[in-house]
Amino acid sequence: MAHKIAAANWKMNGDLNFVKQLTQELLANQTIINSNQSLLLASPFLYLHELVEATKNYKQINIAAQNCAQYTSGAYTGEVSADMLASIGVTHVIIGHSERRALFGETDAQLAIKVLLAIQNKLKPVFCIGETLAQREANKHFNIIEDQLWHGLFQLSEADFSQCIVAYEPVWAIGTGVTATPEQAQEMHAYIRGLIAEKYNDDVAQATSILYGGSCNEKNAATLFSLPDVDGGLVGGASLKAESFAQIVAALNK
Ligand code: PEP
Repeated sequence: MAHKIAAANWKMNGDLNFVKQLTQELLANQTIINSNQSLLLASPFLYLHELVEATKNYKQINIAAQNCAQYTSGAYTGEVSADMLASIGVTHVIIGHSERRALFGETDAQLAIKVLLAIQNKLKPVFCIGETLAQREANKHFNIIEDQLWHGLFQLSEADFSQCIVAYEPVWAIGTGVTATPEQAQEMHAYIRGLIAEKYNDDVAQATSILYGGSCNEKNAATLFSLPDVDGGLVGGASLKAESFAQIVAALNK
């Protein structure tokens, strides 16, 4: 059975005071009760060390970076390597978020390297995939998702793939207030799990956490998380309010 995860993607929001306050409120509100559940906080690089320290006594809270470099070390001004992240206690890294793909031109080939570097440094990749509205309207969404998986993740051995979390994030739902319907989410998550089973095997597919992302909030989380192939969520906007995110975390129990 796949691990259930509520993941917060804070993106480039908040200053140090905001992050400290939000973390305190999250810790005070945290409702993880089941050993098969965890909470993941993805903050800007700058705050990761502080967050690792603040959460070190909470076994079911993990800290993620939102990106990592495609290089190991050297003259890459402004970049942060997977090795550096691991060295401060970060355990996960988001790779291939649609904002990285669209705004920073990250390609499948670059993402595949980042995934490998993450795994080599014992970081678990949270690999994001999703189609645009135009692709869905042209009925190409299944092909797009299959392509993104083949180019970003399916080069991995079974053991390495087992370290990965998949986040299905339809681009048209991210930050728009438009959420995939339960039917759309379940259909795509089941499709993704089927592809994993075909490429690896059914045990690997059943054990892979497949998160939904895209305008997930405290009102729709329980419905989304109760779907058979949705193992939790990757949450942007609604993760910036401790009260909302606590309700999303609680929805993992639904
Ligand atoms: C995201 O950016 O990963 C995301 C899901 O954002 P939002 O929840 O704001 O749509």
